[in-house]
Amino acid sequence: MTKFEALGLQKSLLNAISDLGFESPSEVQEKCIPLLLEDDTDLVALAQTGTGKTAAFGFPLIQKINSESRTTQGLILSPTRELCLQITNEIKLYSKYEKGINVVAIYGGASITDQARQIKRGAQIIVGTPGRMKDMISRGLVDISKIDYCILDEADEMLNMGFFEDIKDILSNTPDEKNTWLFSATMPKEVSVIAKRFMNNPQEITVGAKNAGTSTVQHEHYVVSGRDRYPALKRLADANPGIFSVVFCRTKRDTQRVAEKLIEDGYNAGALHGDLSQNQRDLVMNSFRKKQIQMLVATDVAARGIDVDDITHVINYQLPDEIETYTHRSGRTGRAGKSGISMVIVTRSELRKITAIERKIQQDFIAKKIPTGIEICEIQLYHLVNKIKDTEINEDVNNYLPAITDVLKDIDRDELIKKIVSVEFTRFFKYYSKSQDLNSSGSDRRDRGERGERGERGERRERGSRDDAPTDGSVRYFINVGEKDGYDWMSLKDFLKDTLDVGRDAIYKVDTKESFSFFNTDAEHTEQILSTFSEFKVDGRFVNVEVSNNPGGSGGGGGRRRDSRGRDRDKSRSGGDRDKNRSGGGGRRRDKSSFKSNSGGSGNSSGKRRSKKREGFY
Ligand code: AMP
Repeated sequence: MTKFEALGLQKSLLNAISDLGFESPSEVQEKCIPLLLEDDTDLVALAQTGTGKTAAFGFPLIQKINSESRTTQGLILSPTRELCLQITNEIKLYSKYEKGINVVAIYGGASITDQARQIKRGAQIIVGTPGRMKDMISRGLVDISKIDYCILDEADEMLNMGFFEDIKDILSNTPDEKNTWLFSATMPKEVSVIAKRFMNNPQEITVGAKNAGTSTVQHEHYVVSGRDRYPALKRLADANPGIFSVVFCRTKRDTQRVAEKLIEDGYNAGALHGDLSQNQRDLVMNSFRKKQIQMLVATDVAARGIDVDDITHVINYQLPDEIETYTHRSGRTGRAGKSGISMVIVTRSELRKITAIERKIQQDFIAKKIPTGIEICEIQLYHLVNKIKDTEINEDVNNYLPAITDVLKDIDRDELIKKIVSVEFTRFFKYYSKSQDLNSSGSDRRDRGERGERGERGERRERGSRDDAPTDGSVRYFINVGEKDGYDWMSLKDFLKDTLDVGRDAIYKVDTKESFSFFNTDAEHTEQILSTFSEFKVDGRFVNVEVSNNPGGSGGGGGRRRDSRGRDRDKSRSGGDRDKNRSGGGGRRRDKSSFKSNSGGSGNSSGKRRSKKREGFY
């Protein structure tokens, strides 16, 4: 008897399992399958993606439903369209030897009529995303009033995405006697609420360590004056050339206005809000998914259920009224085990809200400064140089080479490099070199006597960016590895800490860009760092560290700013205007060209990540 047979699975399923090449059940399968086959019970299973949980509920579900009846008997709710399709495919593979079983996927962004037609043919199992499910129920296109099994997959993710009301609504259309099986990677309070309210004495299964929901999202706030919100937004985008973000605004009007301004200023932006037709929204979402849109400006309602995994940044252009909404927003990034950053642009008077959010999310915000023009120029310069280095040569230029060489023959190498870089860089430099500091005074709440627990919890702020660290005696470094080498700020910090054998706190302000990064240490480590990385290779490639000319990083350089704060604040108004008026300058062309390479980069890394997700089975 194989291990799968011992779990009580029927022959047809065992045959499918053998076709799939599964040799032995995973832990979650071993624990769930016998239990679900034997008992009519509710279940809460804590298991991560990649542990084989689809089969853990899929096999018992297939075995228990009646394939001779065409009534819908099983409903699987999943957070995203991607996952919905993945589950549907898996269930189809598992049920390949079951005659007459029909599994239908229901998700947004595809024709509702086609989906309704498939349902009409008789679907014993429906796999759906909450938004589309609710829509189809309200239009009478699906009937889930007779289901026996309801599976909530990745429940934490669904709640994180703001689907609580939709789920409640959907469940109210199902019979009380059904069994509910809830799968979740973490057990935050919201998931317990669902378990308590909608389930009946659920059995609990935990695979691996119980995870209270370690956050992979870093929360940052930037204090600016209200009129500088927009230039601040642009700088945040410019300081992160690989950004792939959702920018949240409070109203439809602001959403449209900010998106229009960004587009006008040459950014790859799009608007998503309720005043657009379904068709327009689908178009925007498709462009976003394909990463043709780098900054999706959205209202909270419209952004609900955005099912894109690789979002690097959430930017709160304005804070929402409800704290709850903030958690939904920030949950759009840092998904599927990746890290992400949630940035909030606030005015001084809104700082109290930050404290309230910290209490709610039980995580501290890092007080950051809007990067100065020079810092942005430096980031962009390295970005450009790396882009040149990584550009694939188009051999068609060979035909023109003799003529080109002839034109450039009197220019020596160094001069040529400077000229090539200047083609792009000068535009940027002109645009930003005289720009003003956008940071509003009092960005540190300690100034306002709001220190509270912050002092005691100081070390909890330390997540790669020690922005409260003194910049005196601090050295900033450039390192030639970045996101496309698989690093995010956490893993780069770990790599540096391990390589240099220094304490975690020794490395701070780690800021990863697409193909390079920055970090800081206190000056005492400089010699060791430069000598360690003088001939340092990883996988045959030199990892190079240099001291950056910009010792403070984005959080530093306070002296000059503080000295001229009064004046700067007046000037910053004109700085804002300058930003706007010169928008056709550095910002425009750089953004477009850099984005092409970004999208490729992110695409690759997302591919890598997806395959990792699969590989991570055990
Ligand atoms: P899941 O956690 O359901 O997303 O599953 C992750 C991957 O593991 C899927 O591609 C499954 O096909 C595969 N898988 C599920 N169960 C097993 C098993 N017992 N042995 C090998 N692979 C499995």
